[in-house]
Amino acid sequence: MECDLLIIGAGASGGTSAVSALEGGVSDVVVVEKSPEKGGGVCKKIDFIKGIGINDTLKKLNLKPNYTSNTSRWYSPSNKCFTLKSEISDLWFTRGDFEDSLDYRLQQLTLDKGANLLLNTELVEINGKNTAVVRENGKIKKIKAKVIIDAEGVNSVIGKSLDLYSDKKYRRILGVGMVGWDFNIEAGIPEIFFDQENMPGSYCLLAKNPKDKLCYAVVGFECSDKLFNVKKIFENVLAKKPLIKSRLEESTFIENVFGELYVAKPTQLVMDNIIITGDSARLMEPFLHYGLREAIVSGYVAGIVSQKFLNQKKDANYLKKYSEEVERILFPKLKRNGIYERCFNNLCNSDIEKVFDFLIENEGNLDNMSEKPYLYLHRLIPLLFKNPNFILNVLKAIIREK
Ligand SMILES: Cc1cc2nc3c(=O)[nH]c(=O)nc-3n(C[C@H](O)[C@H](O)[C@H](O)COP(=O)(O)OP(=O)(O)OC[C@H]3O[C@@H](n4cnc5c(N)ncnc54)[C@H](O)[C@@H]3O)c2cc1C
Repeated sequence: MECDLLIIGAGASGGTSAVSALEGGVSDVVVVEKSPEKGGGVCKKIDFIKGIGINDTLKKLNLKPNYTSNTSRWYSPSNKCFTLKSEISDLWFTRGDFEDSLDYRLQQLTLDKGANLLLNTELVEINGKNTAVVRENGKIKKIKAKVIIDAEGVNSVIGKSLDLYSDKKYRRILGVGMVGWDFNIEAGIPEIFFDQENMPGSYCLLAKNPKDKLCYAVVGFECSDKLFNVKKIFENVLAKKPLIKSRLEESTFIENVFGELYVAKPTQLVMDNIIITGDSARLMEPFLHYGLREAIVSGYVAGIVSQKFLNQKKDANYLKKYSEEVERILFPKLKRNGIYERCFNNLCNSDIEKVFDFLIENEGNLDNMSEKPYLYLHRLIPLLFKNPNFILNVLKAIIREK
């Protein structure tokens, strides 16, 4: 089998690559997806992204979030709470095999626009630079393509075979949790719990979508152990956090949530005629462990660059335009949030309590704080000087990042 553009994986980045290439006029597109069900390649969950620097791309792809909110509740380790009201919206995307999920909708769009979507088809290996060996419904077959987009997510076969992940320093985070109904929380207002002792370098998020009442709870754990008892760890956290436990007591669960995330320097983004997108390229925002915006943006750019390369018969070097664009659009934020991540990881629970005191005193007005930080300096400076270790950690984090 031969095609112009072959996309491996039909999740967030694969789906957006396909839609953007098809909209640009590439007609001969094959997408292979290992799941037999539309949307079934990723676990059922709700992914959040900050509605900043992404709205144009979503509009061009005709993709609407399942819900949009501007309010969230944040809890300190001792359960101090502040309500964050922000002009920057949180965009909620349902994932998995629900009919209104991002993945399902992208795959439907891919089909509607005329691509050949092969479900139940898994990439086995890349043979040379432009032939993929896939297993379709158990049968091995070869697909030759002018451009290949790797959108396989964290456990990319291509990434491993191109040796993209060796010798890279990374933190491996396991996201574990549950999707279900009847969580005892207010719909439309996500709740975020911090506790550096029980969830170091991470947080627990609970949410209920007001539209369909679908509920979601997730905790991140740093982990190097492959034999990890997900359920037990989630339950242990709950046992130590009665407030979270009380939110889930009456719930009905549909499914456990389990996935890996790698907080790492992004890998090489183009190798010959192979473009690497999303989690496969380790394009992950390190502070909140968000990768959906990065997957959508990189997928969109990969689709456009492939379309120009194919339709305008550009030379092989043209695909490098993808790296340049992704670096321009995504890297500054990834770098800045890498500094936030290091600062946050160095904070202990008593530091976090102080940050909460400051936020509560200033009514959690983070928009104003980041736009007009000078208005808060007279309150911030005495707080910082009372905590010299905090300043030292921030400086260390900035120097290391540079
Ligand atoms: C528990 C958890 C919570 C998260 N929460 C958030 C959040 O709130 N906000 C956020 O921005 N991000 C979040 N993320 C991260 C986000 O989900 C990912 O960054 C994003 O989905 C990456 O998109 P992707 O297209 O690279 O990979 P995916 O969306 O994972 O898609 C990969 C697709 O490729 C298919 N595939 C894989 N291998 C093959 C193969 N060999 N052959 C064929 N098909 C293959 C898979 O079946 C899948 O459909 C979370 C992740 C986890 C695990």
